[in-house]
Amino acid sequence: MRQNTVVGNWKMNLTLEEAKIFMLNFMSYDLPKRVQLGICVPFTHIYYLSENYNQVSLKIGAQNCSRHEKGAFTGEVSAQMLASAGAEMVIIGHSERRKYQSESEEELLQKIHRALEADLDIIYCLGETLEEREAGQLQSVLERQFLEGPGKLSKEAWESITLAYEPVWAIGTGKTATPEQAEEVHAMIRQLLAEKVASETAEKTTILYGGSCKPNNAEELFSQPNIDGGLIGGASLNAEDFLAIAKSF
Ligand code: PEP
Repeated sequence: MRQNTVVGNWKMNLTLEEAKIFMLNFMSYDLPKRVQLGICVPFTHIYYLSENYNQVSLKIGAQNCSRHEKGAFTGEVSAQMLASAGAEMVIIGHSERRKYQSESEEELLQKIHRALEADLDIIYCLGETLEEREAGQLQSVLERQFLEGPGKLSKEAWESITLAYEPVWAIGTGKTATPEQAEEVHAMIRQLLAEKVASETAEKTTILYGGSCKPNNAEELFSQPNIDGGLIGGASLNAEDFLAIAKSF
């Protein structure tokens, strides 16, 4: 059985004061017991939120880590630092970082290694742009992102990895992939896992969908056999919406 999971990605939103208000509101509700919840927050919020809210059913995480272990890399934050501040997981390969920070597959693989060394769980994002989809390159793009990234890892490393299929054209646009479109790609990714890693890993790995997932479409998306939950951007900034999505299984 795969773990149903819903993880928020706050991106560069909410001051620490606003984050505290969000958490007070969010924690006043009954959280669903059988869903693994996570919230990936700005670096500056990790220590406070993990000290106060990390618990079995809710993990606090980061949105990025350095590819380096430590040293003269001004402005960078290492995976070890995240772990020491209380983070339990980290997003790697989000399309906004691939686009605005030009993160390559090689760099992302280094980040994965740093996160594994720090014992962080990883949410690795992959997905195609609209141009790539329209040019018929969906499969080749996903294969490249997979094979040059986490596809190089051992079976053991996969115990710490969750994948997130995030079609770039659906992120923050209000355009969601249909449940059928998303399911088709999730099945393709699971097949890749079976062929390149192991069938057991393919069965066990959680694959999230991300891209304008909201309370009104989560249930249909999550009911697909290969969709195990969601990585939620905009809707995770509203406690009631985030909770409604988490209760959509
Ligand atoms: C994301 O940033 O990972 C995301 C899925 O954003 P949104 O839900 O806003 O489309």
